[in-house]
Amino acid sequence: MIKKWFAIINDHRISLYDRMFRIVTVICMFALVLILPMGRSIWNILVLAVSLVAMGLIVKFSIQRGRIQAGATAISVLLLLMFPISFFTAGGFYSGVPEWFIFCFIYVCITLHGRRMTVFFILCMVETLLCYGFAFYFPGLVAQNTQQASFFDSAFSVVMVGMLTSVLLMFLNKMYQEENKLSQQQKKEIEELNRAENHFFSSMSHEIRTPINTIIGLNEIILRGDVPEDVAENARNIQGASKMLLTLINDTLDLSKIKSGKMEIVNVSYETGALFSEIVNMIWIKAREKGLEFKLNVDSSIPSMLCGDEVRIKQILINLLNNAVKYTSEGSVTLSVRCERRSLNQVRVWYSVEDTGMGMKKENIPYIFNAFRRVDEEKNRYIEGTGLGLSIVQQLVEMMGGQISVNSVYTKGSTFIVMLDQDIVDEKELGTFTLASRIKGREGELYHQSFEAPDAHILVVDDNDMNLMVVSKLLSETKIQIDTARSGGECLKLTQNHHYDCILMDHLMPEMDGIQCLHALRAQPVGLCQDVPVIALTANAGSDNQLLYRKEGFSGYLAKPVSGALLEAAVLSVLPKELVVLSEEASQADIEKGILIFEQVKRRSIMVTTDSVCDLPGSLRKKFGIPVCPYYVCTDDGRFLDEQELKSDELLLHIAQGRKGYSQAPEVEDYERFFAEKLTEAQNIIHISMAKHVSEGYQNACEAAKSFENVTVIDSGHLSSSMGLIVLCAAYMAEHHAAKEEIVEAIKRMNRFISSAFIINNTHMLRQSGRISKKVQVLCDSLLLHPVLVLKKSRMVVGGMKMGGFYRAAKSYIKRTLLDTRNIDRRILFITYSGMDEKKLQYIRKLVQQYCPFERVYMQKASSAIASNCGPGSFGLLFMRRDDSTASFFHVAEQNQAE
Ligand code: ADP
Repeated sequence: MIKKWFAIINDHRISLYDRMFRIVTVICMFALVLILPMGRSIWNILVLAVSLVAMGLIVKFSIQRGRIQAGATAISVLLLLMFPISFFTAGGFYSGVPEWFIFCFIYVCITLHGRRMTVFFILCMVETLLCYGFAFYFPGLVAQNTQQASFFDSAFSVVMVGMLTSVLLMFLNKMYQEENKLSQQQKKEIEELNRAENHFFSSMSHEIRTPINTIIGLNEIILRGDVPEDVAENARNIQGASKMLLTLINDTLDLSKIKSGKMEIVNVSYETGALFSEIVNMIWIKAREKGLEFKLNVDSSIPSMLCGDEVRIKQILINLLNNAVKYTSEGSVTLSVRCERRSLNQVRVWYSVEDTGMGMKKENIPYIFNAFRRVDEEKNRYIEGTGLGLSIVQQLVEMMGGQISVNSVYTKGSTFIVMLDQDIVDEKELGTFTLASRIKGREGELYHQSFEAPDAHILVVDDNDMNLMVVSKLLSETKIQIDTARSGGECLKLTQNHHYDCILMDHLMPEMDGIQCLHALRAQPVGLCQDVPVIALTANAGSDNQLLYRKEGFSGYLAKPVSGALLEAAVLSVLPKELVVLSEEASQADIEKGILIFEQVKRRSIMVTTDSVCDLPGSLRKKFGIPVCPYYVCTDDGRFLDEQELKSDELLLHIAQGRKGYSQAPEVEDYERFFAEKLTEAQNIIHISMAKHVSEGYQNACEAAKSFENVTVIDSGHLSSSMGLIVLCAAYMAEHHAAKEEIVEAIKRMNRFISSAFIINNTHMLRQSGRISKKVQVLCDSLLLHPVLVLKKSRMVVGGMKMGGFYRAAKSYIKRTLLDTRNIDRRILFITYSGMDEKKLQYIRKLVQQYCPFERVYMQKASSAIASNCGPGSFGLLFMRRDDSTASFFHVAEQNQAE
């Protein structure tokens, strides 16, 4: 039985926790057996014996039923019950029991978990303290022990507890060491497995590429020929399927490389213009084929040469752009690039890929970066894809120390933004980036033979006959004389007696590989091709190989499968010019591509936006370019957009007929649409909303802003034109290139200096909008009371009451509001009013002039949403109290007025 027990303790298939429970419990039981004969009374012995039996039963059942935690809990309860009894019957602190209390603590800590462990630990502590307390204050409760007995008990217990604890720790230590050894061994096995997997992936990829090369190459030959339409259709389908297969192989290989830590970021100097044109060349035709507009906005201040992993950046952007085209059926795909200086020699570059496609549901967005995960499968069923692309993109961006984010509005489109820091190599600005000057040969287009070189002589080296045939056929139209060699050795033999103008060399070949062959060729004592350009043509996947081949001395690199166009372009780039005659068609094709004109829009850095309930004169809104998201006004005839579909005069007429009219904040989707649209014009948005406790606008805007990286929503804490003052100040700062944080800070500071109060002529509208009860309304009406509403901590509260007719109440309100003339900033005053005739307006103006003349007074008619809340005859005086920090802003407002 002991053997069996040891076997279980060493069995790694049984959970560590299970084994620990067995060890600790057995030691506990062993301890009980040892102290059983030491019992000082029959009660004492009985308790110990019962506990021992109970413990045995609990262990048996809990292990049999696999309920270890329950068993451990039951034993802990047993120990907690047993110890106080033993303590009092065995002689209190003059016995050996206190030492066993420590054992109880150890048991709880090792066998229990989580909250249960905490609870029992506290119980142990409380119980220990209570036992000691009772024994101290009520010594009569404790059985008396002779000094000799207590000495003996205590010594025995200390030795026993010490011994058992040491045995326990030895066991646990041994177990941990074995577990550790096992996990090290498993780690090694996993690494081995990973290595094998990686090797498998790369050789599989190599093996699959070779036949795909044949399929794609021969298929291209078929497409070039004069074949019936149904054959051409089939050939095109083969072409599509092979390319899909190729993408899958490349993605799987990349993913396995990333997983095994073999993917390396190789930073090199690159030309930004060349990078963008290469990317655009690959994408715009795909967009055009789908009837999509392709737009490109490149910040002209990007340095012309940067240092980074060009290959991976290209891979990331092509992946995102391909997705944008794939998931968009109408509209446009836009690639925007902008940069910001980080330090003397570093820029932060933002690449944004935006489409007007199907977008993604918010709940799906967190999953799109998971490998093999495609979202909204139902809708995407007919769109080819593996779900690998974004996973690779995300991991590559992270490896480069960058960030990727996505904004998407379902059914409206998506924007992927990649941020990368790049070192500057050449400060010179890229300038206006037009594609007309940059388009080069492109893959996938209808074949146009680009040149002829009947006097040129090239050698193709490959161990695979099919590959040799494909390359020869793909180059046949150029009339180049082609020789083939099936191995490195054969190649070297041929080059001893023949001069070639170029050599295309496979990499992986038996006996002598391409690199060895190249070195041998360069060192050939009697060869005719020591200096001839050699292009690596390889199925050895991975675009990072470029660097390797360049380092080894190859003049170029082509990955299989290779298209005729790319092959021709590569050969053309190394052939001596005098041997080449460029075809007319090729130059014609270039001219055609050059017609494309791409717009060059520069987005503002920060745009300040607000809601239509911000009552600002149109002229100021226009001057500062402040877009507004309209509120709704709900009437008996339906819901209308504030001011756009329903003017305040029409609304007041409607209300005068006793019909209802109230305002409603834009919904989250409205804000999402608004922000998405504005983000095409600006990189950041600061949206200033009406006081947050007065309407749902602020909450809805905040909710919508969560879908975007760069939208900040701020509670103005005010209404109407007083919030307009804040908006103007923010817009002025944005126009003068203040940083986002500075603007936000200024808005918060300004908030405290604004005075905004409205006097309500008729409380009917307030009741309708639920702000006051019917009783209060009746009381106000009968006593001719006019409430003055002020804003405190973003809440609207009644700041006072004016009594009497309109003129009397207005006079009292104006006098009171403008009382503290010394602290009023007299440069600008907004008077927002609703439903008031010229006579009343004149009266207000006159009174203002009389009490506190302002340099500029804007009379602003309230929007219909505001009018629906305060009703006709209401108005407010909105101005600033003295604060020098806003001085420059007023200067501009004044200039504007003067204009
Ligand atoms: P796939 O091969 O399926 O395109 P990706 O990893 O590239 O794999 O993308 C994962 C999922 O994210 C896609 O299946 C698609 O549902 C969604 N997705 C990616 N880009 C877009 C986009 N521009 N518009 C809409 N959905 C997209």
